[in-house]
Amino acid sequence: MALIVQKFGGTSVGTVERIEQVAEKVKKFREGGDDIVVVVSAMSGETNRLIDLAKQISDTPVPRELDVMVSTGEQVTIALLAMALIKRGVPAVSYTGNQVRILTDSAHNKARILQIDDQKIRSDLKAGRVVVVAGFQGVDEHGNITTLGRGGSDTTGVALAAALKADECQIYTDVDGVYTTDPRVVPQAQRLDKITFEEMLEMASLGSKVLQIRSVEFAGKYNVPLRVLHSFQEGPGTLITLDEEESMEQPIISGIAFNRDEAKLTIRGVPDTPGVAFKILGPISAANIEVDMIVQNVAHDNTTDFTFTVHRNDYQNALQVLEQTAREIGAREVSGDTKIAKVSIVGVGMRSHAGVASRMFEALAKETINIQMISTSEIKVSVVIEEKYLELAVRALHTAFELDAPARQGE
Ligand code: ADP
Ligand code: ASP
Ligand code: MG
Repeated sequence: MALIVQKFGGTSVGTVERIEQVAEKVKKFREGGDDIVVVVSAMSGETNRLIDLAKQISDTPVPRELDVMVSTGEQVTIALLAMALIKRGVPAVSYTGNQVRILTDSAHNKARILQIDDQKIRSDLKAGRVVVVAGFQGVDEHGNITTLGRGGSDTTGVALAAALKADECQIYTDVDGVYTTDPRVVPQAQRLDKITFEEMLEMASLGSKVLQIRSVEFAGKYNVPLRVLHSFQEGPGTLITLDEEESMEQPIISGIAFNRDEAKLTIRGVPDTPGVAFKILGPISAANIEVDMIVQNVAHDNTTDFTFTVHRNDYQNALQVLEQTAREIGAREVSGDTKIAKVSIVGVGMRSHAGVASRMFEALAKETINIQMISTSEIKVSVVIEEKYLELAVRALHTAFELDAPARQGE
């Protein structure tokens, strides 16, 4: 008998009918003899609706109160699913994060899980009950409700699986696995049978929102067997694994990730003296703004141009800080651009293949897409381009790295 944690996302519990379907599915697993812990998200659209309500009161809602409110979305779905199971003769009980005691730090809206009390869940499982736990939420040491950041139910699922030493954590969603890129953007994208934790972590960090980044971090750290599956279609899904098989067919690139979350800032005509990077980025980091990509160009007149990207939410703030810095260090001008996108190719196969980056640049050049910034690591290459070319770039790279589904190639 196995212990399985099953997480169902927003669209999978988006209506009462779907919740009934999920209950049918859980019932079948239960009848197969496995112990089941289910984690659910709020109904799709509900978290956004609640945030919109808060924004009608204030542009910057008090984080603690926002958590009290957005956590209600998941409280509704756990109760509905438990009712649907009980109606089918399956003993079940629902718990909020607080009731389980999913202890987090106090960073409201982006809390981290510190500890999970497994006692209640274990005794319910022992008594033959299916345990339904609210995703996305926890409680801090002072008893305040916290939430884990958007997409945080994935992390609840994986963290519970780690705490309970479950045999598998199954993430049920509206796609039948992890694809080479977002199938909504590239219909020729292919499902991957397997992807390594390392690659999945890069994909998630670089914009593939199929799994929340922290859930992948957690799964890697505690070696939780993790699988992404379709909620209502049969299939093997995608296994996130530790092993990096060395096979002849191993593709160089496993996937392409992209995001529109960043904005670019440039400071020009900066006197090029030692410490200039620190003078520019020190105040940005002091303002608690994270910098992603950085490029510095030196001109003939002993000045330098310095460009970097930040999250779009931090753009206005960063611009103000940079303008102040420009005045202080005597730079010529400051400019910014929010209409950029970042496209990244990811794959452990890159380690053993040369020329991957130039193949990427060639494919983009063929489409006359200008590359504004580049950054590389051992298993990824990212470029910043104009936002309007994003989809074209992703499709071109998908083809260039031979990721298109064979049956549909040339369509
Ligand atoms: P849930 O509500 O179940 O948590 P999400 O919307 O968070 O679902 O994640 C599933 C979505 O992730 C898919 O509908 C798909 O559009 C998107 N996605 C982005 N990149 C990928 C990828 N590489 N593979 C699969 N899905 C992806
Ligand atoms: N309901 C939350 C959100 O929409 C958490 C989740 O779905 O994972 O972000
Ligand atoms: Mg999600």
